[in-house]
Amino acid sequence: MEGITPEQLAQIQQQCIFCQIASGKVASKKIYEDEKVVAVLDINPANPGHLLVITKKHYFVMPQMPDDEVEHVGKIAKQLSQVLLKALKLEGTTVFIANGVAAGQKAQHFMMHIIPRKEGDEVGIQVQPKQISETDYDKIYQALSQGIKKNLGDITGLEKKSEEKTEEKESKEKISEEETEEKEIEDAEIVKEDAEESKPKIVIDERKKKEKKKTEKKEKEKKKKNKDKEGASLDDIAKVLGA
Ligand SMILES: [Zn+2]
Repeated sequence: MEGITPEQLAQIQQQCIFCQIASGKVASKKIYEDEKVVAVLDINPANPGHLLVITKKHYFVMPQMPDDEVEHVGKIAKQLSQVLLKALKLEGTTVFIANGVAAGQKAQHFMMHIIPRKEGDEVGIQVQPKQISETDYDKIYQALSQGIKKNLGDITGLEKKSEEKTEEKESKEKISEEETEEKEIEDAEIVKEDAEESKPKIVIDERKKKEKKKTEKKEKEKKKKNKDKEGASLDDIAKVLGA
């Protein structure tokens, strides 16, 4: 799979049964379709109603997909889960993606499984907890921390949290617009009472401007980073698939 050319990829797509299903060349029980994905009923379901969300473009594994496609698959999985839950009167859904042979991937085409669940349905997806030594635990932590730094730069969990906080703050500001208006009226009254006391309002406006600039800058940086790390190399994918 190393050094694959666009021509070779086109050939794979021609031979890939899931590409054929996505394009409609091979018949399937298609229950959903948009410009990026199709969702079909699995012909060998883990439970009746087992859905496969298949990308229209040929990807081997999720790390190869552009961010917007991953996002889209996530959104569709949410919607389809809701539909399944109601339509089949389920108690839950199991959503999973197998990346690589070791993870149980059988097809050479990315897909997300959505499996209807009911208590005691005996679908054999169970995680058996293992014991891990303190040393191994530390080693894993170190290796992952380094990998994350290398791949995601300075977007650490902490940074993300503070970003979320800024967003939260902004949405709160939007929601409490009425309150802000009230406050502004109050501020105006203060101004009326004493012209010298109008400073706090100016300070608030300045702070808002600064925060807006900060958020814009962060958005720009985020966009740049996404561009840089878009898509894994085919070598990485080959490793995942054990090819
Ligand atoms: Zn395919």
